[in-house]
Amino acid sequence: MDDIQRLEDILQRIDGRGYKAYGDIRGRWQMANCLLHIDRVQGDPFAAPSQLRVQVPRAEAGFPDWCTSEPDRVVALCDYLTRAFEAAIRRVDPPRVGTGKGGLVAIETPGQEVLERTSVVLLDDCVEARFRLGLPAQGRRVMGRAAADLLLDDVPAIVNGSLYFEDLNAERLRGHVQGLLDQRAARAALAERELVAWVADGSLLPRRSGIDPRPMTGEVVPFRSPDSLAVELKLPYRGQVRGMGIPAGVTLIVGGGYHGKSTLLRAMELGVWDQLPGDGRELVVTRPDAVKIRAEDGRRVEAVDISPFIDNLPFGRDTASFRTDDASGSTSQAAAIMEALEVGAGALFMDEDTSATNFMIRDHRMQALVSKEGEPITPFIDRVRQLHDELGVSTVLVIGGSGDYFDVADTVIQMRQYLPEDATEQAREIATRFEGLRSREGGDHFGRVTPRSVDARSLDPSHGRRDVKLRADGVDGIRFGGEDIDLDAVEQLVATAQTRMVAEAMVWLKKNALDEGTTLADALDALDAALTEQGLDLLARGRDGSLALARRFEVAAAIDRLRGMRARTHTETS
Ligand code: ADP
Ligand code: MG
Repeated sequence: MDDIQRLEDILQRIDGRGYKAYGDIRGRWQMANCLLHIDRVQGDPFAAPSQLRVQVPRAEAGFPDWCTSEPDRVVALCDYLTRAFEAAIRRVDPPRVGTGKGGLVAIETPGQEVLERTSVVLLDDCVEARFRLGLPAQGRRVMGRAAADLLLDDVPAIVNGSLYFEDLNAERLRGHVQGLLDQRAARAALAERELVAWVADGSLLPRRSGIDPRPMTGEVVPFRSPDSLAVELKLPYRGQVRGMGIPAGVTLIVGGGYHGKSTLLRAMELGVWDQLPGDGRELVVTRPDAVKIRAEDGRRVEAVDISPFIDNLPFGRDTASFRTDDASGSTSQAAAIMEALEVGAGALFMDEDTSATNFMIRDHRMQALVSKEGEPITPFIDRVRQLHDELGVSTVLVIGGSGDYFDVADTVIQMRQYLPEDATEQAREIATRFEGLRSREGGDHFGRVTPRSVDARSLDPSHGRRDVKLRADGVDGIRFGGEDIDLDAVEQLVATAQTRMVAEAMVWLKKNALDEGTTLADALDALDAALTEQGLDLLARGRDGSLALARRFEVAAAIDRLRGMRARTHTETS
């Protein structure tokens, strides 16, 4: 008797029995067009749906070399197949039946970014899709017939429409692969050109709304670089493309309110990820170690050396290893910068809209009233050059309110009706004409970036009887064991699947890399090395299909926001 018949028999036999009887269908079943794995069966119809996988042998799936011959191509292929699988679910549209989640079929839903994912993976011998399925019940009784329809008809139909090359739109798949390769080539070209970011001519930057990341429709002004900042890159598929290069150093984005400053910065922040063809920002690329910084009052800060920005606090509080459960706007922004530098940020992006004013600038009148002895903060304006000249860290800053920054900028881009102009010369001329009156603060050197080590025991993912209990609350929150981590201010996280990955990475670090003598940066190096070697499945416990890759910066940001986290700076003695 074949597997299909056997599975059908079991479903018939358990029909009408208690829900637990579904346990009998756990295991591997050879279907006509795939191998079906029923890995985890839900405990009741209302619980998280069951976890399933389907595998199609590579020889039968028939993917040509151009989608599998190198890791970047595989990332694009698997992202595409996740979308194809999702579209096939919608086409087949299995009916919801019975109580609870009965009849639900779902795979991780990708957004505008093309990411390395665990939803579809290419293995040595097969392509595998991981998804969730609600086993149907009437009340709490097994609906055997409906389950058979789902597993024996609908799932194979979904597989047919999505995991076989011959059933896919080859041209769109090719565009997906080539689009990703062009983006990665452009991003790789930034270093030798000494650029922080590059925005191709013709890019469409604005989004539909603050909560809808799809491209804006209607009247959109396509991006066009001013001649003086134009850089041509030769991309493997699009060929020669002209765009605006943001040079290393200190760059200001200025301009009137509502002229597109924040929209440009946001596109560049997200240029660390690859975008879908047709997104409008698919040729906006940014160096991979660029980190968005913002103020985040109320957050916790644990043992961060913020002395380059803040010292001489009232009551002699230590800022070389600063702790607080309730940071102010300025201390949170200082801490975010130091934390990013500690784990290797090469560029910082900031927007005045989300910065603390007293962190960005102290003008000459305020300097006259409040002497430096009475002011613990050395504003960013007095550190931004040192950041570049001493540490090699570039900054891109949206600033419409303070011309004092002209003194410290290498490049000034003015947005005028959504188009950039090179205002560097003009800003320089203005800076000499109206001499700045403020005096420089904070001394001639940036100061130290002090490494920390994180106490592994303080990362506790356990909850109740479970050793590890993690949940992503949308893209901006993690439930880590018994604690909530607020990631609202970690603006380069773009997908809930990334947030889940960050939570899993924290558990991996706790088990494998965090110990007394190891700095957080070294622990993250170990994570990166393991990810490079083993792929994202390193973190997919139980072949979890719901993860997508985030960077070390997002992982560190989550650790830094775990309120129970304990660390020590390496200059402290334990
Ligand atoms: P600023 O930061 O300079 O105040 P924003 O970047 O917030 O301006 O942009 C203001 C508005 O203009 C936003 O609603 C944005 O979606 C829209 N916008 C931005 N760039 C463009 C563009 N290239 N074409 C059309 N609308 C745009
Ligand atoms: Mg703005």
